[in-house]
Amino acid sequence: TSLTLSDPSLLREACFIDGEWITGADTLDVIDPARGTLVARVPRLGAAETEAAVIAAERALPAWRALTADERSRLLMKLHDLLIDNVEDLARLLTAEQGKPLAESRGEIRYGAGYLRWFAEEARRIYGETIPAHAADKRLIAIRQPVGVVGAITPWNFPNAMIARKLAPALAAGCTMVLKPAELTPLSAFALAELARRAGIPRGVFNVLTGDAAAIGGVLTKHPAVRKITFTGSTAVGKLLLAQAADTVKKVSMELGGHAPFIVFDDADLDAAVEGAVAAKYRNSGQTCVCANRFIVQAGIHDAFVEKLGARAAALKVGPGDAEGTVQGPLIDARAVAKVESHVADAIGQGARVVTGGRRHEAGANFYAPTVLAGVTPAMRIAREETFGPVAPVFRFETEAEALALANASESGLAGYFFTRDIGRAFRVAEAMEVGMVGINTGLISTEVAPFGGVKQSGLGREGGRAGIEDYLEIKYLCFGGI
Ligand code: ADP
Repeated sequence: TSLTLSDPSLLREACFIDGEWITGADTLDVIDPARGTLVARVPRLGAAETEAAVIAAERALPAWRALTADERSRLLMKLHDLLIDNVEDLARLLTAEQGKPLAESRGEIRYGAGYLRWFAEEARRIYGETIPAHAADKRLIAIRQPVGVVGAITPWNFPNAMIARKLAPALAAGCTMVLKPAELTPLSAFALAELARRAGIPRGVFNVLTGDAAAIGGVLTKHPAVRKITFTGSTAVGKLLLAQAADTVKKVSMELGGHAPFIVFDDADLDAAVEGAVAAKYRNSGQTCVCANRFIVQAGIHDAFVEKLGARAAALKVGPGDAEGTVQGPLIDARAVAKVESHVADAIGQGARVVTGGRRHEAGANFYAPTVLAGVTPAMRIAREETFGPVAPVFRFETEAEALALANASESGLAGYFFTRDIGRAFRVAEAMEVGMVGINTGLISTEVAPFGGVKQSGLGREGGRAGIEDYLEIKYLCFGGI
């Protein structure tokens, strides 16, 4: 794969520990998912290097947290500006390792930069409080302090933004970080480290390493100097990390899987619902944790919705992310395609009807055709498991109560969407959905200014918004006596 960057030094094939680029004897291949070709080789490090990174982060902590909020804020804004200045190169790197269309990659870099700007601003608003005392000779104050060294583990579906939304609040709060990005998409993480270095963020404040996930994760979750674990990824790995972190009682933030319902009521604006569905389903080829995974459509609008969505899905241009006009890239790897195939086969085997797609796509080995399935029932695997691919399964319902029962019949509770023009229903349904985020008459909800996160088995904590910095702060209560 020829990856030409206007600044080739943004392509790093080394880990970044204590301000130094570190290589290793063992390597991991980074593969272009659209073509199956080698993009880069990155180090395969393990427990010893992770330990060194944790020590570096611990050493960097006192000076970093002692900076004024304004000083930290300025460094984060500098990093924001560098992301924006280099958006084209960063987008090319991201598409090369992850596959998404270039336009989506550019959008992701701007979205990631948005977290840096937002938390650069929030850094200056980490207020404490004075508390009316319980005794005449006492005065009470609560201050908020950084948690300390943070261990972060991130997924491959947003190789920049999932890091930015952890790094920005951590650094804004005065924490330092050791990051293990997904091995499938490390290049965006290394580029971020390079830009952090250029921004003047001191050595040891942000460390990035790739390698043996279990070994690195083992050190991050067990090392006493790490005070917090923040993870975005699968529910299964999240549970494992939670269990590992229990031994040293670390604070944890978990952004895990979703299984988002998308309800369309009879009174919805049909065109708006279809456009919302396309945005919520096929962005990143269905590989986001807030992707609509269960379309729950009322009987009166059902057939028209299915037909229109099918036509829109069939018209999506599929191809390599760096090809002109592509709106659907490949899936991340062969395993992802196999999972989609098995979900679709199971649904068809149990009576689902293929409206469009339902097969691999000729663009290449990792491509799957945008798919719509009608006649889906709760017995099918696709009704219970996150597909993480470009498949829209459609259920039919009659009453609002039935729709809510279907929507809430899940162990996950990340995002939910619905379309209606009835304002009373809008409030009822929004309040009744067992999720952390609701899109009402929209299929796109993510922004750095709002709290992102889930309920049930979708996670713990919130990222972004005013709440996003809380996960990186401890409250300390000061009781002054003898006054
Ligand atoms: P997916 O199945 O979508 O790849 P994962 O949860 O496996 O999602 O991956 C998310 C992140 O978790 C990646 O950075 C991956 O390397 C990491 N990971 C996977 N297994 C472990 C583990 N045992 N310990 C620590 N991190 C892990």
